[in-house]
Amino acid sequence: IRDLEAIVQERGFKLGHYPQSMDLAQMGGLVATRSTGQFSTGYGAIEDFLVGLEAVLADGTIVRINNVPRRATGPDLRHLFLGSEGAFAVITEVTVKIFPIPEATWKQAYRVKTMRQGLEIIRLVMRTGIKPAVVRLHDWLECEKPYGAFMEENESLLLFWSEGRKEIAEAEGAVIDEIAKANGAVSAGEKPLDLWYVHRNDAADEYEKYGASGILVDTLEVAADWNVIADIYEKTVERVYYEVPEVVFFSGHSSHSYINGTNIYFQLGAFPPPDVDEAQRVYEAVWSIVVEVALEYGGSMGHHHGVGKHRVRWMEKEHGSSYALMESLKRMFDPKGIMNPGSLIEL
Ligand SMILES: Cc1cc2nc3c(=O)[nH]c(=O)nc-3n(C[C@H](O)[C@H](O)[C@H](O)COP(=O)(O)OP(=O)(O)OC[C@H]3O[C@@H](n4cnc5c(N)ncnc54)[C@H](O)[C@@H]3O)c2cc1C
Repeated sequence: IRDLEAIVQERGFKLGHYPQSMDLAQMGGLVATRSTGQFSTGYGAIEDFLVGLEAVLADGTIVRINNVPRRATGPDLRHLFLGSEGAFAVITEVTVKIFPIPEATWKQAYRVKTMRQGLEIIRLVMRTGIKPAVVRLHDWLECEKPYGAFMEENESLLLFWSEGRKEIAEAEGAVIDEIAKANGAVSAGEKPLDLWYVHRNDAADEYEKYGASGILVDTLEVAADWNVIADIYEKTVERVYYEVPEVVFFSGHSSHSYINGTNIYFQLGAFPPPDVDEAQRVYEAVWSIVVEVALEYGGSMGHHHGVGKHRVRWMEKEHGSSYALMESLKRMFDPKGIMNPGSLIEL
């Protein structure tokens, strides 16, 4: 994706889709996993970028979906391939929207006392209908090292970034500033945004370092409506620390917001005894809590990392009465069970 971004930038455009895995990910994989990038609150997730594609089905048939602004000629077939994780077809070409390089940027960080307060401010901003490119809220554990100098202990930090035409970016900024301050947030200036931007993809290297030193690390991302998301964050954090004593680090942030809800991206660090079975036990215990709490509150266990093989076991619970449709789709696309077996759905 980084190479593609360079190509479109040379022509005065930008992709707008920037996953943290920019150096690793390719378009087919991002479509196949229903990815979201770090600027998704403004530019949208991969389903908003994808306007057309070509795919090869299990029997070798080639299908194309052509690029039109919209059609009302039956269900939107693009969605059969978005999130299909290679279990239905191989995507061989995609057509995506690109955007003009923005003229101006408005950015501001705000300190809030709690994640609940920060989530409420994001909800109030999103329901005005504006879509700042970046809207993030990090808990203290994630803030202490990078942004601690701009905050008081145990606070959370809101990061807002608007871009586009100068007057639009500034107008969005004025709306955000008014809502944030009216709801008890305190400005922490622009500097935290500059730091975030420079270091936003460092985690990829850090995970490898931690892993090599025996620390169990992973990221787990859930999504839910505004009325339950703060409960999900608080209950998940409380249960993980209480029920899995090997956990030394369990933090969360919201990074992709919508008019009706947001995601929470949990980051896990644990020190299990140096034994594969023990590490597995700790890992499964944390995952079970995260999925259980998200589903208990009517949320989704997966906001943008897809299902893979690990989350397959919870797919029936996730989809409830519509799960049978997922099984039917798998049978229809892959009657011989040869497409990425064991991933997405197990028959
Ligand atoms: C450090 C790190 C940071 C990440 N940050 C983000 C992030 O910010 N946002 C985000 O959304 N994700 C993120 N991810 C997840 C990851 O980027 C994506 O799930 C993945 O990279 C998608 O692209 P890929 O080309 O690497 O796919 P792969 O990992 O190679 O494949 C992912 C799945 O898609 C299927 N697939 C791949 N290509 C095709 C194709 N052409 N046709 C059909 N199926 C295909 C594969 O079979 C597999 O099931 C991150 C991952 C890491 C390791």
